[in-house]
Amino acid sequence: MTRIAPGGTIGIFGGGQLGRMTALAAARLGYRCHVFCPEADSPAAEISAAATIAGYDDLEALDGFCASIDVATFEFENVPYEAVARIAARMPVRPGWEALRTSQDRAVEKRFLNSIGLETTCWTEIRSASDLRQAPCPGILKTTRFGYDGKGQVQLQEGFDAETVWAIFGAERGVAEMLVDFSHEVSVIVARGTDGSVALFDVAQNHHRGGILRRTLVPAPVSSSIKAEAQTLAARAAEALDLVGLLAVEFFVTRSGQLLANEIAPRPHNSGHWTQDACGADQFEQFVRAVAGLPLADPARHSDAEMVNLIGDDVHAWPNLLAEPGARLHLYGKHDIRPGRKMGHVNRLSPKARRKGPEA
Ligand code: AMP
Repeated sequence: MTRIAPGGTIGIFGGGQLGRMTALAAARLGYRCHVFCPEADSPAAEISAAATIAGYDDLEALDGFCASIDVATFEFENVPYEAVARIAARMPVRPGWEALRTSQDRAVEKRFLNSIGLETTCWTEIRSASDLRQAPCPGILKTTRFGYDGKGQVQLQEGFDAETVWAIFGAERGVAEMLVDFSHEVSVIVARGTDGSVALFDVAQNHHRGGILRRTLVPAPVSSSIKAEAQTLAARAAEALDLVGLLAVEFFVTRSGQLLANEIAPRPHNSGHWTQDACGADQFEQFVRAVAGLPLADPARHSDAEMVNLIGDDVHAWPNLLAEPGARLHLYGKHDIRPGRKMGHVNRLSPKARRKGPEA
């Protein structure tokens, strides 16, 4: 239960925008951050007190990193076991290996979710073209590892040819899952502290295009019982992983109102960026508090919110967004604008609506 007092140094694996916004929140609470990532000029390193640019298998660099930090965390989950174990031998690593391991592999993740009573769409693990013949259809074949923003996915249409799809897919393992006819996609972010306390943010509705999150709305337009159930399930998953930090849980809401878990992420999440402007303490502050062993903050929301991602050329709209009353612009300082690359986001707030009973 080590508590790291303000003034201490938080080590962050990964240099993307999630690390950047974590480091900004940490700085506000008086912490220093040291970022470890392979890429030079990363968004997180740019604004952190220190950075080590090295591969996750560079043992010497890992030891140097270790010597300069008090606690370690992650802004992405694909850190190799050896790196995590090397750090964990010397200091707290939050969240721990169990949460990372589970979210690194879609098959392990779905097995875990099902084992604790979170339903998923019907799925099966695929290791060959012959396995693929048994896949649910219509469905989606997804890589078990390193898939994000819809990458590494192939649609399985009625009458698909298993040999051809397997050859195009190209990975050694995958999961094939039944396409869900959902009415909404929602997510919940739960913070869990070293003492097991949890703080749940409100349920958000997410809109994806081409597998990439475009827009998040809070409150989600689903019934209060669906919201309560989504929060209960997210807290259950965080507890089952004995997670310290943040857990984002994404769900499909079916047309009959059933919640099917899609993915979990043991870190800050794009669908939680609305908390930066609509809550007293946002997901990044909760993350820092949990990782440092501090008490969690009140996750209450004071406003309704819309978050829109600025992807690729969308970022050129920044002068208009700056001029828009009530719009809060967040840019990640990325120099190269590429299609599909998340360059920033904008939060728009409106007064919290008072609603009775289930929303539309
Ligand atoms: P994922 O990489 O699994 O988060 O998928 C990205 C997006 O693709 C999801 O947010 C959905 O919009 C869509 N998607 C993924 N899996 C399914 C599914 N089984 N049924 C329907 N849509 C899906």
